[in-house]
Amino acid sequence: MKKILLLATGGTIASVKSDEGLVPAATPAQLLAALPDAQKLCRLEARQLFNLDSTNFQPEHWLALAAEIHRCYREYDGFIITHGTDTMAYTAAALSYLVQNSEKPIVLTGAQRPISDPVTDAKKNLLDSIRFACREQSQGVYIVFDGKAILGTRARKVRTKSYSAFESINYPVAAFIDERRILQYVDTEDQAQPVTFYNRLHPKVFVLKLIPGIEPEVLEYLSGHYDAIVIESYGVGGVPFYGQRNFLEKLQALTESGKIVVIATQVMLEGSDAELYEVGFKAINRYNVLQAYDMTVEAAAVKLMWIMGQTRDFAQVKRLFYRPIHHDVML
Ligand code: ASP
Repeated sequence: MKKILLLATGGTIASVKSDEGLVPAATPAQLLAALPDAQKLCRLEARQLFNLDSTNFQPEHWLALAAEIHRCYREYDGFIITHGTDTMAYTAAALSYLVQNSEKPIVLTGAQRPISDPVTDAKKNLLDSIRFACREQSQGVYIVFDGKAILGTRARKVRTKSYSAFESINYPVAAFIDERRILQYVDTEDQAQPVTFYNRLHPKVFVLKLIPGIEPEVLEYLSGHYDAIVIESYGVGGVPFYGQRNFLEKLQALTESGKIVVIATQVMLEGSDAELYEVGFKAINRYNVLQAYDMTVEAAAVKLMWIMGQTRDFAQVKRLFYRPIHHDVML
C-alpha cells in the first residue's frame, strides 16, 4: 500500500461559518474523518502546515511547502495538499518550479464548498486526489478538481462558484477521474533527471493588465518597485505606441536598466505570437523583451520569480524562461 502525506493549508475545504464569513478552521483529522474509506486506499498521514484562506498565501508559503515536501520526500510515495482554490494555480505553478522532475505525485486539491457542508464537492475532490496519487503513472505536480487532473503549470481558476473551478490552459487535461476509472490522456515520461528541489524565489514580479487609455508612465513607477513585469497585453501580444501614450519608449528605458519584461496576453486561450503584428514585433525585436507564448500568466509570473532567484542576467533569464519545465511551454 502506498504511503501518502496530506498537508493541510486551509481554504474553503477546511472552512467553517463565522460572523465575518467563511474562515479556515478544520484540522487534518477532521478532514480525514469525513472520508472513512480513505484508509482503505493507502496509508494516509496528515499534518497541518497552515490554516489560511489562500488569498493570504505568499511566496514564502510556497517555499515552506516545498521545503516540507523536500524534508519528507523519501518517507512517502506521494503528497496531497489541501488548499484554497483562489490562488491554487499559483501554488501549483510554484511547486512545479520548486520541485522539478519529481517521480512522485504532488497533488493540490480543495473545494468550492466546505467539507462539513451537507452538499459539498470536498469529499469527491479529496478521494479523487488520493486515488490519483496512489497510481504509478502520477508523477509531478497536479491540481485534481472536479474529476480532472490538470498539470500544475497549466491550471487556471475560471469559475468562482461552480464545482468545475479549474481548466487546463493551452494543454490537454492530463487525466479524467470518475468513481470507477482514471483515464490518463497525457502520459508521464520516465524522469531522466533526479528530483531537484529549489529554495529561492525572487517575488518582485508585477503583472500589468493593459486597458485602452493606460498611461505608459506606470512602467516608470513599477520599475522603482519590481524587477520583472509581465504585460498582459491584447490579442497575440502587442503594446501601444500611438499618439501620446507610447509604451515603446518606456520599454527601452526599462530593459536598458536591466528589468525583465515579458509580453503575455489577457486572452485566456491560445497564447501569444507577438511578432505577428507591428505592435508586438517592434517591442520584441527592438528591446530585450520576452513573450509568454502558450504559458499561463500564473506560470509565467511564478517562473520569473524562480528564475530571478537564481540570476538577473538577461541571456540566462531568457534561456531558463524558454526552457520547458513540466510542460509549461511548447516552443
Ligand atoms: N477563498 C477561498 C480560498 O482560496 C476559496 C476556496 O478555497 O475555494 O482559500
